[in-house]
Amino acid sequence: MTGERVFIFDTTLRDGEQAAGTSLNVQEKLEIARQLEALGVDIIEAGFPITSQGDFEAVRLIARELHNATVCALSHANEEAIDRAWEAIKSARQGRIHIFLSTSSLHLAYQLKKSQEDVLKLAAAMVARAKKHLDDVEFTPMDSTRTDTKFLYQVLETVIEAGATTVNIADTVGYALPDEFGKLIEGVFKNVPNIAKAVVSVHCHNDLGLGVANSLEAIRKGARQVECTVNGIGECAGNAALEEVVMAIKTRSDLFHITTKIDTTQIYRTSRLVSELTGFIVPQNKAIVGKNAFRHQSGIHQDGIIKKANTYEIMDPRAVGVPASALVLGKLSGRHAFKERLLELGFSLDETALNHAFKAFKELADKKKDVTDRDIQSLIGEELRTATETYHLDHVGVSCGNHSMPTATVRLIGPNKEILADAALGTGPVDAVYKAINRIVRVPNVLTEFSVSSITEGIDALGEVLIRIESDGATYTGRGSDTDIIVSSAKAYMNALNRLLVTGKDRKEQEIDEP
Ligand code: MN
Repeated sequence: MTGERVFIFDTTLRDGEQAAGTSLNVQEKLEIARQLEALGVDIIEAGFPITSQGDFEAVRLIARELHNATVCALSHANEEAIDRAWEAIKSARQGRIHIFLSTSSLHLAYQLKKSQEDVLKLAAAMVARAKKHLDDVEFTPMDSTRTDTKFLYQVLETVIEAGATTVNIADTVGYALPDEFGKLIEGVFKNVPNIAKAVVSVHCHNDLGLGVANSLEAIRKGARQVECTVNGIGECAGNAALEEVVMAIKTRSDLFHITTKIDTTQIYRTSRLVSELTGFIVPQNKAIVGKNAFRHQSGIHQDGIIKKANTYEIMDPRAVGVPASALVLGKLSGRHAFKERLLELGFSLDETALNHAFKAFKELADKKKDVTDRDIQSLIGEELRTATETYHLDHVGVSCGNHSMPTATVRLIGPNKEILADAALGTGPVDAVYKAINRIVRVPNVLTEFSVSSITEGIDALGEVLIRIESDGATYTGRGSDTDIIVSSAKAYMNALNRLLVTGKDRKEQEIDEP
């Protein structure tokens, strides 16, 4: 088995994005896709084109821009969705259509209202439809782990017969236990006569915290594609975390005898970028990429590490790209050094965006002595957020204190470049700012989450505000960073409102499209 490779299929931009509150814009999705390519993932599931015009555009752009990775589009098992997926990926150097269809009797009875016979026919017909467009077709029997195994084998045989080149065993609801899941994979190899014609993939969710464990067990039983997401984000409790799967295979190569194409030194950077753009903060104790993952507190540990690192360290932090020193740039750094650093951090901005970002960097360096990688990531996050906004925050001012009424004035630039100004009183400065913005951008919403954190240590640090708002049953995330936390708060609110405005519009278009 030595020398064999397992394909890493990243679904951060699809399953991850679908997690409540993330609605990345096209530019942000492209940045993540580029970094995933630098990380070396084999397949990038870029989105679900039929669901919205925005998702379609993002998949199409990513398909055009990437050079190495296969770009995959998800599709329902219907012709219109498959054709739309093809439209989105047809200019990819290497494209894939991924069709899913529920197969568990539970889903059949309550969701699809179809018989097993109907499902077999439909699955075969839809794979055949996708094959008209391209060769690389993946099929997922959704809720595989709660599907009657005999029927699952039948479905797999049927879709492989119809031309599916990858079959994906999905633990959609995170129900399976490792031993049981391993046996299911063994069963698939034993009982599906044409299984050698397809790659066996797994897609494991984390509802019981077993997404990674189940994926690893499946690899041991012969699965050769793992579907995962950066930082483990995704529907409900999330998906198997890419960084954990990859580092487990690498660290325990004595057991796996298998490799991935991942450049592990890009892991930390990718994790930061995804966290920055999605607003999903990485817990401090998260394996591989958490702040404390390589931090030893106990005296016995520290003593051991100093004498010999591997006494208590099973991985070298440098292997996952944790930066050795945080210090990088300052006031005197030039445009060239800045651009180089951006490239190292995985950002490839065009000339206009670069000029804009450099100006913001200079302004930050004036206020803050040392500008670290984290500061730069936050700053670029800010640039990407404002690139596609409907309303732009031009000015914000507050007056507050223990004997005064918190008052805010704001000036926004509207969709037609018009200047819009207003003022409001509030219970505190942030409340006053949000009320003043609401007087201009009149979209009903409820603030459900508000948190402030500092990006680096020190009193001059950038303060980052993360908020979530709800409108019409949907959640929108907003982030903003500045050395002034009132300004960060205003930026975060504008960011969430802009996402709401774009996605809200998208949804209405979709409603008109659907029969
Ligand atoms: Mn999923």
